[in-house]
Amino acid sequence: MRAIVFENFKTFPSLKDVDKPTPGPGEVLLKVAGAGACHSDVAIYDTFEEGSPGAQKPPFVLGHENSGWVEEVGEGVEGFTKGDAYLVYGPIGCQRCRACSRGQDTYCENAATNPYMGIGLGRDGGMAEYVSVPARNLVPLGDADPIAAAPLSDAGLTPYHAIKLALPQLAGGGKYALVIGLGGLGQLGVQILTALTGATIIATDMKEDAMATAEAAGAITVPGGPDQVEQIREITGGKGVDAAFDFVGVSGTIDAAMRSMALQGRCTIVGIAGGTFEWSFFTNPYEATLTNTYWGTIEELHEVVDLYRAGQIEPEVERFSLENGLDAYRKMEAGELTGRAVVVPHEA
Ligand SMILES: [Zn+2]
Ligand SMILES: [Zn+2]
Repeated sequence: MRAIVFENFKTFPSLKDVDKPTPGPGEVLLKVAGAGACHSDVAIYDTFEEGSPGAQKPPFVLGHENSGWVEEVGEGVEGFTKGDAYLVYGPIGCQRCRACSRGQDTYCENAATNPYMGIGLGRDGGMAEYVSVPARNLVPLGDADPIAAAPLSDAGLTPYHAIKLALPQLAGGGKYALVIGLGGLGQLGVQILTALTGATIIATDMKEDAMATAEAAGAITVPGGPDQVEQIREITGGKGVDAAFDFVGVSGTIDAAMRSMALQGRCTIVGIAGGTFEWSFFTNPYEATLTNTYWGTIEELHEVVDLYRAGQIEPEVERFSLENGLDAYRKMEAGELTGRAVVVPHEA
């Protein structure tokens, strides 16, 4: 079968022929409906070196946000019908520790000794005609479109998890949320905030069209620039935002988020750009917290699918055939994508 393979560090991936996988015990073979291309794939093949935190040993098929139709089940698997559509939870932990027990494989206590981080992250992913995944990682999509759903497993789940943890700050009237960075995750972040909270949403990005999309989803936008924080604080009547979500994570965006915070607010850094921030007792608004977060839980992915099936969130996707799949990464690197790039191996 054809697949997009990460072959070596600092090397652009290749489209090539590989063996079609066989589902192992407890696994389900999916005919891939959609596989989303993520910025962290670029980190995998372009930024990381062997031994970098998060680096996964090549070679493997890329694609960690996947959906597909059941094709075949492995030994011991029951309850699946051929042709049914599922979304795939990407992380795979040890399945024994406390974090894995609550469906939060992302925070597996045995991560250091696990053979890989997940599907498309050290083990073969969904940028291929078929992918084999543990049955436990499948979330049913029912009659919802699996191709448009593919990005939900990362670009939907990651902001959902971050926002859910900030709901105490956003409950009640007169609350403000700030979204920094309006790529795939940020746009879904605006939609999820609209669905889950009554907060006024302020969104910012360097791209005009991205801000227009966020405005159409109900956000007030503020452009980047020297008086950005002043403008954000003015919208909130001077008090600042109750929750901020930074989907970029460079030093400048963390700084802008923290200078926009209200007393007792929660600032979550989601973007993995690795920026730093200087903290002081005297400049931090009292009890404002600065934290990070990573991906989400299996249970939360069920909730994200519920939002999608209820029509409350809709990822904007740009489709690529598998044969043109490498263009998804080329366009991502060039900043030319308008929606989340989804590779569609089997055109209907
Ligand atoms: Zn990702
Ligand atoms: Zn574990």
